[in-house]
Amino acid sequence: MSAPHVLVSGAGIAGIATALQLVRGGIRTTVVERAPEPRPGGQAVDLRGASREAAERMGLMPGISAHRLHEKGMVYVDGRGRSYGRMPVDLFDGRGAVADVEIARGDLNQVLLDALAEADAAAPGLLSLRYGDRIEALVQDEAGVEARFASGGSGRFDAVLGADGVHSATRRLAFGSEERFATRLGGYAAFFTMPTPVGIEDGWFSMRIVPGAMLGIRPDRDPATSKAMLTLRVGRDAALRGDRAAQEALIRRLLSDAGWQAPAVLAAMSAAEDFYFDELARVDVPDLVNARVALVGDAGYCGTPLSGMGTAMALVGAFVLAGELVEARAEDVPAALARYARRIEPFIADGKKIPFGSLERAVPTTRAGAALGRLTTRVMLSKPFLPLITRAFAANATDELPLPDPASAPLAR
Ligand SMILES: Cc1cc2nc3c(=O)[nH]c(=O)nc-3n(C[C@H](O)[C@H](O)[C@H](O)COP(=O)(O)OP(=O)(O)OC[C@H]3O[C@@H](n4cnc5c(N)ncnc54)[C@H](O)[C@@H]3O)c2cc1C
Repeated sequence: MSAPHVLVSGAGIAGIATALQLVRGGIRTTVVERAPEPRPGGQAVDLRGASREAAERMGLMPGISAHRLHEKGMVYVDGRGRSYGRMPVDLFDGRGAVADVEIARGDLNQVLLDALAEADAAAPGLLSLRYGDRIEALVQDEAGVEARFASGGSGRFDAVLGADGVHSATRRLAFGSEERFATRLGGYAAFFTMPTPVGIEDGWFSMRIVPGAMLGIRPDRDPATSKAMLTLRVGRDAALRGDRAAQEALIRRLLSDAGWQAPAVLAAMSAAEDFYFDELARVDVPDLVNARVALVGDAGYCGTPLSGMGTAMALVGAFVLAGELVEARAEDVPAALARYARRIEPFIADGKKIPFGSLERAVPTTRAGAALGRLTTRVMLSKPFLPLITRAFAANATDELPLPDPASAPLAR
């Protein structure tokens, strides 16, 4: 009878948060990340409700507070930059598009990496974190999982955790092809850092909607830079996968008449080092566990960036999953993983919802549709309608569920 040895695939938010809690709990943990180094970038991440509590119970709040963004709210603008609707942070009882605790995804990843380095220093020998490597094959038997790595080595583990994102290789190897679990929403999302454009309203998340595209510019921690965020409503095109030039060409086409800050966004796009582009795909895996292999974060549950809950779900999932494993002996791993899946289920069903509907509602494809969207936003955010909309936000809130309580919640020593 011994403590398990755990393999984690992916060093994003889900992977690093899981590894952090495992190492704190005294579990030998190997993490393999395909990228050669930590991946920076990403938009502001909202922490509210259960995800905020998970961050608190993991002792992450001091680090998060040091990197906290101070957004004033969201403002909708037209082609000349004139605002036609405004949602300050405290509107809708704090349940609107901007939460009171916000941190850029890359900064949160760094806060987690710093905490992991501390945990590693406090308990040397438990953690092996390997960039530039990935799992190539997995074979399970009653007592463990044999993994073969692209780097040539192999190893035997008591549990393998797939934290390798929407296109998870762990999921493909242990559960089945991506097509079984991913639902394409009919569009793409792109994010990158850009110099803060002249004339942008300081501290506000500004949003412009044109036929086929939603363009947002969000404040960064450094006032000299901002985050550009694009949601594109176009049919699936296999040629876009992995082809940055084709991705940029699509964005240029859709923003050609957008006015406002679109020229500044397009001018900055090609130089962006953290340019991120992916298809909008929801991930539903009916059973997150296959014996000794489990999925956490986007690999197992993803409501697309439109849900705004991906990182929140990854943090909560990591907290619960590691909490179950820390109490388990090697032979109890399948039961511990099954408890994780049960505990997390209600939370992820809620977190995958897209607030107020769908991509179709958020991004119209015609000029008339975009004009109607502007009118609706203006009316909804006008004084007489606010009480009604506040009630609708409360009914749609995805932050009401309590944090599932795992068997254990190790903290920094
Ligand atoms: C660079 C980056 C920027 C992002 N920006 C945004 C954003 O602006 N807005 C938004 O809503 N969401 C964004 N996301 C997605 C968001 O981070 C996730 O939805 C959420 O945090 C859940 O994280 P995750 O760890 O489950 O998945 P991810 O964040 O996707 O992390 C998965 C990790 O696994 C690694 N990986 C992939 N395949 C393999 C493999 N075969 N073997 C080993 N490692 C592998 C990836 O390199 C990545 O580091 C971004 C993700 C990344 C990686």
